[in-house]
Amino acid sequence: MKRNWKKATICVQGGYDPKAGEPRVLPIYQSTTYKYDDPGRLADIFDLKEEGHMYSRISNPTVAAFEEKINQLEGGVGGLATSSGQAAITIAILNICTKGQHILATSTLYGGTHTLLSTTLKKYGIEVTFVEPNLDIEEILSYAKPNTRAVYTETIGNPALNVLDFEKYSTIAKILDVPLIVDNTFPTPYLCQPFKYGANIVVHSATKYIDGHANNVGGVIVDGGNFNWDNGKYPELTEPDESYHGIRYYEQFKEKAYITKARSQLLRDIGCTLSPFNAFMLNLGTETLHLRMERHSENALKLAEYLKGHEKVSWVNYPKLKEHPDYELSKKYLPLGGSGVLTFGIKGGKDVAEKFMRNLELVSLVVHLGDVRTSVLHPASTTHRQLNTEELKKSGISEDMIRVSVGIENIEDIIQDFERAFSLV
Ligand SMILES: *Cc1c(COP(=O)(O)O)cnc(C)c1O
Repeated sequence: MKRNWKKATICVQGGYDPKAGEPRVLPIYQSTTYKYDDPGRLADIFDLKEEGHMYSRISNPTVAAFEEKINQLEGGVGGLATSSGQAAITIAILNICTKGQHILATSTLYGGTHTLLSTTLKKYGIEVTFVEPNLDIEEILSYAKPNTRAVYTETIGNPALNVLDFEKYSTIAKILDVPLIVDNTFPTPYLCQPFKYGANIVVHSATKYIDGHANNVGGVIVDGGNFNWDNGKYPELTEPDESYHGIRYYEQFKEKAYITKARSQLLRDIGCTLSPFNAFMLNLGTETLHLRMERHSENALKLAEYLKGHEKVSWVNYPKLKEHPDYELSKKYLPLGGSGVLTFGIKGGKDVAEKFMRNLELVSLVVHLGDVRTSVLHPASTTHRQLNTEELKKSGISEDMIRVSVGIENIEDIIQDFERAFSLV
């Protein structure tokens, strides 16, 4: 592994290192299985004594190269790709949390994650307390319980666009002696590397900027290798796993215990595997991640500034605007850019918002973000539809809010399309 590469170089070349005569470009290993000559070697792979692929539900060379690229970009000790971001989040939590236990989460989460935590995990006996991200440390700690097993949050909240105070949340996680799990989908590792600021586990919806072209659904978990699981709270990592002939993950794999268990136990059992073809596509997307994130951020800031001065706009929210409440945090944790998502309020509320969106031509109405194409969405009636009025407020969503995922087209064309749509409402 070439450790000294800068992020742009890892984007292009990380994770795949062909030997002489092998394909220059990462091949799609469209094979479910792998040939062996010696049954003893295969037995050792089954026992996790030796590394190697045996069945593509658990690992595959194309998927492994993509996992390693994202792992290198994040600066972790190992990555695990999944069939979606939701699958990554589910495995990341279930890997260390079981019925009768508790998670402390921020209230400004992506709608799908909020529902997963508040409804589905609850049915399986995992309790979640959602806290306002801006509360002070003591108050947040007062919501923790003896059975709290993780702190869960997002680098940039979707769609509140609040920036995570890593110092505060890593302190909270350290006091509770539980890992800090951070969804780093919005900035991607190009704009922010959460492990540098105390996160222990990173999750991604690779569907968004990592893919970048709205072609593939996928997810990734990256293990920072920086949490001591041997603190009495995580017997599933320190005690024998009966489903794996008594293996003790922490004893055998030390700083890679978490990610090894996630693969050999949960990915094996649940089977939410990324396909080799999708891994190939996501790897291709990552080859230009650094260039795209720079342009997404540059265009978003320009559009935010344009909207700020517009008479039909009542408010604009983008972390790189000086008046944003988290501007200082964005300077500290997102020095290279604020990513491509902004929100704004249109005067006249929901009805005008709908009219405005109908008037757009270049910009399309889609349920997505992170695409090279600029798009808009009305969160209250779509992605966060399952939330009630109170929950909407806690998630930072108002009825007049339009979310824009600013693409990498020429910014003048994007602004012209907005101008035209405003003029017709
Ligand atoms: C989209 C998204 C998810 C869910 O990912 P999928 O790939 O759609 O399953 C999770 N977190 C954030 C921040 C997202 O934007």
